[in-house]
Amino acid sequence: MKDMFGALAEVVGESYVSNQPEETYFYARDPGLMPPREPDYVVVPKTVEEVQKIVKLAAKEKIPLVPMGAGMALTGLIIPLKGGIVMDMKRMNRILEVNERARYALVEGGTSQGLLKSYLEKNHPRLRHSIPDSPATATIASNVMIHGQGRLTQQYGFNSDMVSGLEVVLPSGEICKIGSCAVSPHWFSKGAPFPDLSGLFLGWFGATGIITKVAVKLYPRKKMRDVEIFVTDREDLVPEIVFELTHTEMVEDINVFSQPRPMIFKDNHHTTLFITGDTDEELEFKRKLVWHSLDRFIKSKDGGFMGVPPVLKPTILDSPQRSVCRFADVKRGGGFEYSGPIILVEKYPECARKTMELATKYDLAYSAMARIIGRGHCMMFGFAFTFNRADSDMMERTRKALHEVSEYALSAGGVFWKPTVNEQRMALAKMDPHTRNLMKMIKENLDPHGIMNPGNWEVA
Ligand SMILES: Cc1cc2nc3c(=O)[nH]c(=O)nc-3n(C[C@H](O)[C@H](O)[C@H](O)COP(=O)(O)OP(=O)(O)OC[C@H]3O[C@@H](n4cnc5c(N)ncnc54)[C@H](O)[C@@H]3O)c2cc1C
Repeated sequence: MKDMFGALAEVVGESYVSNQPEETYFYARDPGLMPPREPDYVVVPKTVEEVQKIVKLAAKEKIPLVPMGAGMALTGLIIPLKGGIVMDMKRMNRILEVNERARYALVEGGTSQGLLKSYLEKNHPRLRHSIPDSPATATIASNVMIHGQGRLTQQYGFNSDMVSGLEVVLPSGEICKIGSCAVSPHWFSKGAPFPDLSGLFLGWFGATGIITKVAVKLYPRKKMRDVEIFVTDREDLVPEIVFELTHTEMVEDINVFSQPRPMIFKDNHHTTLFITGDTDEELEFKRKLVWHSLDRFIKSKDGGFMGVPPVLKPTILDSPQRSVCRFADVKRGGGFEYSGPIILVEKYPECARKTMELATKYDLAYSAMARIIGRGHCMMFGFAFTFNRADSDMMERTRKALHEVSEYALSAGGVFWKPTVNEQRMALAKMDPHTRNLMKMIKENLDPHGIMNPGNWEVA
């Protein structure tokens, strides 16, 4: 450890390594509730060769190594639980290839969502990728690493389902290509027709390797996008509403939200649906089918479409949606965390009631948002609470509320999304023992010294 600073500086240059408290302070925490833990070093590589050298150094010295994107996963996944090195990927941000006809983009492992979005808008305006509503600095590699969801998730599944190739530096320092790129110059598939090895890395939070390149599928960007909002005060009807909407196959993205403010939103459930088209006729055709699909709820007076004022539309259509970030800081204290179990859509009424029950019990500002995944196969239900980090009592109340959410989610048949270390342990305890053993075998084989993001997916 004594010579580590010098060794790291030799790899990346002195400007890109630090062990100074004013830097390690920031790399010790995220906006969520996990207690901070300082890393010993922060290092910011520029090339895959540098990543390899750092990994080899860490392996030789058996020092923990934690890869980091923007640090916005909120559940402490980049906090170096056992100290060591945090590897900030942000300098590896090149867009290496966009294949228009095959509709994929190949980017480096620290490329941000915002960078790819603006690059495509400028150079390939007919193409888009699935953007989450997180701040635009969040990286593409880390989002697929945590099985994130974005604007195209209702149609195509988790953002990780849209990966079409990976380059990974293994804990040994070797580079490994995953998918068609392992045998071809083209990055069009992450697995099929060969065994899909991407599962050895995606979802592991960097505990089995570091993504240095990722290819993601691109989809048509239609010239026009519009939004409709269907409102009901009966949460029990939401699963049926979602079923009807997904059945039309006309909708790009579907979110259902409920929140207490502004007052007009209180006690109502808003299904926001995005429709796209290249012509007015296409848009109108889709809109009619969507309206028709919900006719019976309108006739029974259980719901109706809300007129969305033109002045509000740009805010709702914005991607990422900045209003989500504004809610995250509503308490002005830089604290935000949401537990987002992946769960059946039929559980929406229970989840919505649970959010309100916990917000009242712990006196917290809440927002509940369900993102429909893959035509209604399941949803991510976000129990989101915002808090002031300077208010320890509010933080403690939020911690208790989120713990209750975790217990509820497991009991309701859900599985945790981007789980905290504590939730990982809860999931492992409930997991089929053979599956747990398989995870242990994978982790021990790939990372025999347990240096990669230690604490995460650690099977005892
Ligand atoms: C206001 C707000 C709204 C949000 N909305 C959404 C949303 O709509 N959809 C959504 O999916 N998420 C959302 N999020 C959650 C989160 O911000 C995103 O999922 C985001 O993609 C996380 O990216 P990051 O770069 O910050 O990840 P980080 O927190 O930096 O990393 C996440 C995990 O990936 C690992 N990792 C990072 N880079 C690599 C790499 N190159 N190789 C291997 N492992 C790596 C890290 O070790 C960590 O375990 C939101 C967050 C906020 C604050």
